[in-house]
Amino acid sequence: MTEAERGNRADGLSAAALIGAEPGQAGEAEGLQEWLRTDRAGRPAEEVLGWAIRTFRPRIALASSFGAEDVALIDMWWRIEQEVQIVTLDTGRLPEETYEVMERIRERYGIAITTYFPEAAAVEGLERERGFYSFRRSVEERKHCCGIRKVQPLGRALAGLDAWVTGLRREQAETRVTVRQVERDAAHGGIIKVNPLADWSTEEVWRYVRAHEVPYNRLHDRGYPSIGCAPCTRAVRAGEDLRAGRWWWENPTTKECGLHLGPGNGDPGQRT
Ligand code: SF4
Repeated sequence: MTEAERGNRADGLSAAALIGAEPGQAGEAEGLQEWLRTDRAGRPAEEVLGWAIRTFRPRIALASSFGAEDVALIDMWWRIEQEVQIVTLDTGRLPEETYEVMERIRERYGIAITTYFPEAAAVEGLERERGFYSFRRSVEERKHCCGIRKVQPLGRALAGLDAWVTGLRREQAETRVTVRQVERDAAHGGIIKVNPLADWSTEEVWRYVRAHEVPYNRLHDRGYPSIGCAPCTRAVRAGEDLRAGRWWWENPTTKECGLHLGPGNGDPGQRT
């Protein structure tokens, strides 16, 4: 889809035609307009996700790192329809517990998980030239590693999609206070980014996970509210921010890996 086509759809022109949806779904284009205009509306997460699936299927996927928010969304999607489309990034540095929960999710819901790896040559060059812990030296080095292991693979994962779903919540960090339930993702060609849990609290996430007995990453029980690559994640201490255990050696305002950057969250929209 070209930029012009995306712009047309955002203007409410025949979304159904552009996404190959069934006749009769064209009205959803107006829904898109409404969602994009609505600032932090606080609609029920199931309503947001259901609308997104109906509107963008099959060109929509959940980008999951299998944290508590993501597994809640997988369960929610599965209850709406069982063709859950999940993409995930295998950075090569993930904790064992993340693979374990991925497998439990696969078995529980009977769904495929599409994994995207970094380019082998880029990782080989990174480790040969900068070593195995280059990300500890500076924010720039860390973003370089995230760029190779996360940002570039995500770009491939999102290619061909019209929308992606994430578990972002405003409460998670100061870099996320402007997250909306539906927004245009300028960093990824203007596709639609859907964050159904934007206004959920941590307690709401866990209430959902426990009520539906959703498999979750065992690291959550060991003090890890947010889980990324093993060498860049630690448990948090009482009273610390939810993402204090991610890149704990950095200033909180720099702590995004480049997957969710944009105006208003500490980055001018550049992917680094
Ligand atoms: Fe590299 Fe750490 Fe980013 Fe993972 S989280 S891609 S190991 S810098």
